Amino acid sequence: MGRVYIVGAGPGDPELITVKGLKLLEAADVVLHDRLVPAELLRRVKPGAVVVDVGKRPGGEGPSQEEINEMLLHYAQRYGVVVRLHGGDPLVFGRGFEECEFLISRGVACEFVPGVTSGLGAPAKYFIPPVARGTASSVALVTGREDPRKAARQVDFKKLAGAVDTIVIYMGASAAGEIARELMEGGLSGDTPVAVVKSAYFSDEEFLATRLADLSSVPNPSIIVVGRVVERGVRLWEAARRLSL
Ligand code: SAH
Repeated sequence: MGRVYIVGAGPGDPELITVKGLKLLEAADVVLHDRLVPAELLRRVKPGAVVVDVGKRPGGEGPSQEEINEMLLHYAQRYGVVVRLHGGDPLVFGRGFEECEFLISRGVACEFVPGVTSGLGAPAKYFIPPVARGTASSVALVTGREDPRKAARQVDFKKLAGAVDTIVIYMGASAAGEIARELMEGGLSGDTPVAVVKSAYFSDEEFLATRLADLSSVPNPSIIVVGRVVERGVRLWEAARRLSL
């Protein structure tokens, strides 16, 4: 019986995986990976290893979570080192936890190797801190996607508006305008700075700094950061860029 390592690949730059994650990737007999993992990392896998893309396309096609769980079980029963490679961190809006629950329930050993989550790694590229002395002392990582089976929104953005200083939204592309409206209804000013980082560290990366009142459609996949840290971060980033020109 093999062992499953549920590994975070980091937010897109192949050098932002941990040393431990990379070593496991190089030792793996089988790698099951998400769509949002850097292609260069997959080139580190040893010759002859099985590599399976289990990522969901934007339309939602791709193996279901149940199918991924079964694949993990299947490979763990036949190989030694199985790596389940997630974009970012496997425990932040990934399904790493459910995968581990399933494997343990079937008697398969698994463990987690954390990664840099995109919600922190993408803003860092533009010098945006999640918290900064004097500006923000709390941050919430939230999902913007509605679960179509649920009538109410999973995250109460009106309440969140008054509860934390910085809000980092994953999977918010399709609902960005609506989320902005709810945050303003919850008391945030329309002038609150917002940053959108699309495909951070990938070749099609885009960056936009705006205001809450102007936030409407956002490309996918993006991290949206709402809060005063955005302004402070971007100012520093611009100063740093001037230095290196
Ligand atoms: N486990 C991942 C998140 C998976 S949910 C992590 O920790 O980062 C998928 C969402 O993550 C996307 O919809 C997008 O909001 C965000 N995301 C992942 N990689 C990204 C990247 N390189 N740039 C911008 N957003 C990214």
